[in-house]
Amino acid sequence: MKLKFILTLLVSIGLLSAKAQRPAPDHETTKGGELTIQPINHATMALTYQHKTIVTDPVGGADAFKGIEAPDMIIITDIHPDHLDPKTIEAINTKHAVIVVPQAVADKLPAADKTNLVILKNGESAAKLGISIAAIPMYNLPESPTAFHTKGRGNGYVLTIGSKKVYISGDTSDIPEMRALKGIDIAFVCMNLPYTMDVKTAASGVLAFKPKIVYPYHYKGQDINEFKKLVNAGNKNIEVRLRDWYAK
Ligand code: ZN
Repeated sequence: MKLKFILTLLVSIGLLSAKAQRPAPDHETTKGGELTIQPINHATMALTYQHKTIVTDPVGGADAFKGIEAPDMIIITDIHPDHLDPKTIEAINTKHAVIVVPQAVADKLPAADKTNLVILKNGESAAKLGISIAAIPMYNLPESPTAFHTKGRGNGYVLTIGSKKVYISGDTSDIPEMRALKGIDIAFVCMNLPYTMDVKTAASGVLAFKPKIVYPYHYKGQDINEFKKLVNAGNKNIEVRLRDWYAK
């Protein structure tokens, strides 16, 4: 009994954790089979569909990806280090994934990662591994040449996986292009100041495009319970999924 208590204590303070702490994955049914959603950290996640693994904005080194299959596709939104880390790509890209990026990210990738690259501008799309990928704008409002995110540099994405449309916002304000999205099943929406937007603005944007499910992600330091309250005060049919993207 005493031993069990001590072991529980050690695990709870992290001294005996066997692998990275992550929220439990979520499972969605699509026409093509199950879509599994595994939050990893901040803007990083793994989606699994038909035995294919899609990783977004991989950072955190090999340790962050323990227990996750080598990716078949890597999707990167922007050049900042919380989204682009060539060392992590090198560590996890063992089977040479398709890498989907905007030009500004392509320019920063080492030559080894450029063999299987898909470069998309805002407004362009591609189909790979049976998944359609549309690049949409992500930028700060008001627009300014000195903004953290200028229009046209980074990409948000809408992925069509099976029958589900999945929106990954990247780092953005509640831009008209986001507010005008239609038919989104699952949305990942950023919120943090000063880089993106506050929870009130994010909730307003989400209420405009009405995804069926929304995950606040990239939310360090923000009150996601307040985000959920604001979204559901405006539309109780939107499922707001609060997950701990900063579990250690
Ligand atoms: Zn960011």
